[in-house]
Amino acid sequence: MAVAVDIGGTKIAAAAIDSNGHILAFSKIDTPGTAESVSFSVIKLIKGIIETTSSVAEPDGIGLAVAGTVDWSRGVIVQSPNLPYNNLALKDSVERAFGIAAFLDNDGNLAALGEKHFGVAIEARNFVGLTLGTGIGAGIIIDNFVYRGATGSAAELGHMVIDARGPQCTCGSFGCFEEMASGRALVRIAEERVKEPAAKKRTENGGASAGKKSAILELAEGDIDKITGSIVTEAANVGDPIAIECFKEVGYWLGIGINNIVNIFNPEIIAVGGGMAGAGELVLKPARDVVARQSLHPNKDVVSIVKAKLGNNAGLFGAAALVFSELI
Ligand SMILES: [Zn+2]
Repeated sequence: MAVAVDIGGTKIAAAAIDSNGHILAFSKIDTPGTAESVSFSVIKLIKGIIETTSSVAEPDGIGLAVAGTVDWSRGVIVQSPNLPYNNLALKDSVERAFGIAAFLDNDGNLAALGEKHFGVAIEARNFVGLTLGTGIGAGIIIDNFVYRGATGSAAELGHMVIDARGPQCTCGSFGCFEEMASGRALVRIAEERVKEPAAKKRTENGGASAGKKSAILELAEGDIDKITGSIVTEAANVGDPIAIECFKEVGYWLGIGINNIVNIFNPEIIAVGGGMAGAGELVLKPARDVVARQSLHPNKDVVSIVKAKLGNNAGLFGAAALVFSELI
């Protein structure tokens, strides 16, 4: 079995997972604030998992999934946008503590590897996984292997520019994929729609009035700053037309990004996971429509754009898949 750890900006989760994808043990803590305490907490979590499963199985290796850029060959976390440390040599610390092989990779790569081993992409040789959270994480599988590039930091699809005149991204660029099609894009679009005074044209034409009457604002208790992705989803699910429009827009931009992926990588499957994938067809249908209209033949004829299967545990399953694939 593999010990899998998923280190996120707010939580660190750990699990023992066997080669069939069964979770044998699981625990989770809040992410501590300093590099030293992160290393310490990760080691403590792994120790607990190994002790809990000691009567059932011995660990073959330890897989570590991290939100951030990773130096794959050295097993170092280079930079993590939500975590207060740089150049943390976590693979070495973990190997020293337990005397077994450890592997460290970016959570986007590992979410894709997890879907390849345990999820929707088992049959696919060429596959791209997208995780739509606050930003967009991604992993690329080419001919059954994770594509990592020269420094292990490939697959930053969230920062491909899809609207050069779009809003500024956290990376400094403008109109990045994740600035246009992630959870925070959905919230920005919803805020804009709700703020709009009743659009002149629409009211003059006697059409539907703009944002003010939206269920989005009701669910946010009248406070635009309280709008979240799940509020927009909830509003869309009860048929709120403005919320549905927001998903159409974010789904359109998702499709623009996926169109690039389809044309460049020619994958058999693109799986969409993360919080916003919970909206399902609301966001996937407009994306598929863009691909059907704009992508190249024969690329668009062979690709399936589907919802990812592994949900919140994608990083953990990916970390386990990394252990199994590296040790075989
Ligand atoms: Zn960016």
